[in-house]
Amino acid sequence: MGNNPITVTSPLLPDLGEFHSLLQEIWDSKWITNNGSFHHRLEEALAEYLDVPYVSLFTNGTLPLITALQALRITGEVITTPYSFVATTHSLWWNGIKPVFVDIDLSTGNIDPNRIESAVTSRTTAIMPVHVYGKPCDVDSIQQIADKYGLRVIYDAAHAFGVKIGAGATSILNYGDLSTLSFHATKVFNTIEGGAMIMHDEKTKQRIDYLKNFGFANETTVVAPGINSKMDEIRAAYGLLNLRKVDQAIEARHQVAIRYRQALRGIDGITFFDDMPGVKHNYSYFPIFVDAQQYGITRDELYFKMREQGVLGRRYFYPLISEFSTYRGLESARPENLPNAHRMASSVICLPMHHALSEEDIQRVINCIVR
Ligand SMILES: *Cc1c(COP(=O)(O)O)cnc(C)c1O
Repeated sequence: MGNNPITVTSPLLPDLGEFHSLLQEIWDSKWITNNGSFHHRLEEALAEYLDVPYVSLFTNGTLPLITALQALRITGEVITTPYSFVATTHSLWWNGIKPVFVDIDLSTGNIDPNRIESAVTSRTTAIMPVHVYGKPCDVDSIQQIADKYGLRVIYDAAHAFGVKIGAGATSILNYGDLSTLSFHATKVFNTIEGGAMIMHDEKTKQRIDYLKNFGFANETTVVAPGINSKMDEIRAAYGLLNLRKVDQAIEARHQVAIRYRQALRGIDGITFFDDMPGVKHNYSYFPIFVDAQQYGITRDELYFKMREQGVLGRRYFYPLISEFSTYRGLESARPENLPNAHRMASSVICLPMHHALSEEDIQRVINCIVR
């Protein structure tokens, strides 16, 4: 009997026995936070795994966004996407920056570079794109625009853990001035709560490390008004163990994506993304898009029908960030400015997608959609 709910995600958990022995190490050392050995080891291990020069660990994925804006002294207006998790825009608001929403490209869900230039004003200082669902943004076009207008680029790469592009399999995290990751329980790689910032040089790494620890450079020197957002030893140890399992988890997700695509291709009114050429994906999400005219029932009707069967998809990202009360009054939040984002938000359902879905689970999800 399988009417137990199938959730949209399920956390990757380390082996409990192995975790216990690392906890014993921490107990023996009595060093539980403040730049301890596990913090250091996880930063090194992630830099190697992700193939990036420098990693700074954080307590979640929102504080590196807020800290990145501080570190680059971003002010005025920042161009961003409404099709994301609210934390992207909240990080701007917390820095007193005005978000300027630009519409997305329907073929990826990411900010449309062709619409960025017309949103640039004399107050624009940066672009904050998101690699939505882990699909890489058009990083070259975005950098060209940034260079032309002297803008910084901060990528919210919360979904893009391990994503690589091009013939050289370059990490997507190596683009822009800074990129940020989330290691929340719902993400491909988790430390329960956690996150990181990726930077290209040692000086920036140093500055970020100060900023996430109140601005302390040493015992008596505070170089900037920093915050406290450093990861503790226990979650760093948990992360080290999960990092060993993440490749297998991504491969399991890949197999789920293959099954979904086989079963759903050709259903009138249901579309989804295929792999992008030359991209190593992480299969963090499996969004489908419902065209009510062709499919016969609306997105919400399908969503609630799935729920009745215990298949708990999620409408990521609905409502759009630009629809929340904080942002709705902005000129750039007008729906006429964001037709593609509205279209995607009103048709999307993210299907259950994680490493532990059984064949029976996958079939139950598919059965809800096939008509
Ligand atoms: C999860 C997420 C965040 C925030 O991460 P937390 O670790 O939950 O603070 C930021 N941006 C996007 C796009 C996310 O999906």
